[in-house]
Amino acid sequence: MSEPNERCPHCDQPMERWVIPDELPFDEEWHWVCFNDDCPYYVKGWKWMEEQFGRPASYRHRKNPTSKEYGPLAVWSAQALRDRIMR
Ligand SMILES: [Zn+2]
Repeated sequence: MSEPNERCPHCDQPMERWVIPDELPFDEEWHWVCFNDDCPYYVKGWKWMEEQFGRPASYRHRKNPTSKEYGPLAVWSAQALRDRIMR
């Protein structure tokens, strides 16, 4: 039924379909998100967020499957937001 998952441009691993919460301003049901804990984008994000905001957080690569726009999805732990991954 489903097409193959798109791959993350940062780590080349398949991304997950992540179900958008109602409070986010997107029209799609889901976006691609890289949940690879070894992804360099996510790994570097911990250091960047610490320097910018002085608290532990990072972000994961997110891509809109309709518009193809992408951006960071902020997370506060390795487990954060995984409950919204579509199975
Ligand atoms: Zn990645």
